[in-house]
Amino acid sequence: MHNSELVLDGGHLALDLLNTVAPADASRVDALGAPGTFIQWMEGASLGTEADTAALRASPPDARLLLADARRLREAVAAIVEAHVTGVPVPALALVEVNRVLSYRNVGVRLTGGPGHYRLSGVTTTSGPLGLIAPVAEAAARLLLEADPARLRQCAAEGCGLWFLDTSRNGRRRWCSMATCGNRAKVAAHYRRHRARG
Ligand SMILES: [Zn+2]
Repeated sequence: MHNSELVLDGGHLALDLLNTVAPADASRVDALGAPGTFIQWMEGASLGTEADTAALRASPPDARLLLADARRLREAVAAIVEAHVTGVPVPALALVEVNRVLSYRNVGVRLTGGPGHYRLSGVTTTSGPLGLIAPVAEAAARLLLEADPARLRQCAAEGCGLWFLDTSRNGRRRWCSMATCGNRAKVAAHYRRHRARG
């Protein structure tokens, strides 16, 4: 149902990774299908700095290795989301995978500023390429800890299936995006009403 290759509609970094593939829809390209589209996806998701993604482009072996890690992480995220939604324990292998990637996430604090405006600020450093996708592993963990499973849903449009976290006030969001599936559903409903009258 989507024309765009790279979908970032999930409203959540972990869901955005999960949404990189939707097997029900042959028209959608898997962003994790090749190093080039994967690096584009990373840029869209603001993972790493410009220098980080430039370094990946300059080193195909590193890009391929990180892509393989991202695919493994995607499987783990899928398992976590499924477990959360259905209310069963997260598979041990998914936890191992998320923790493996999380171990590359270094968050510390630094004392900065000067007289009158000293402050403690959080500093995130990454260690090696795997650190670049560590924020996605953290997002998956937060999804499990903080997201209401009833608001973790897949788009209702036929053949779409993109995941989203419903943050609307009434909690009745049905579409991955109003600009695409929501609008198509509206047009189709209008057409049906029109035909029923005529
Ligand atoms: Zn959709």
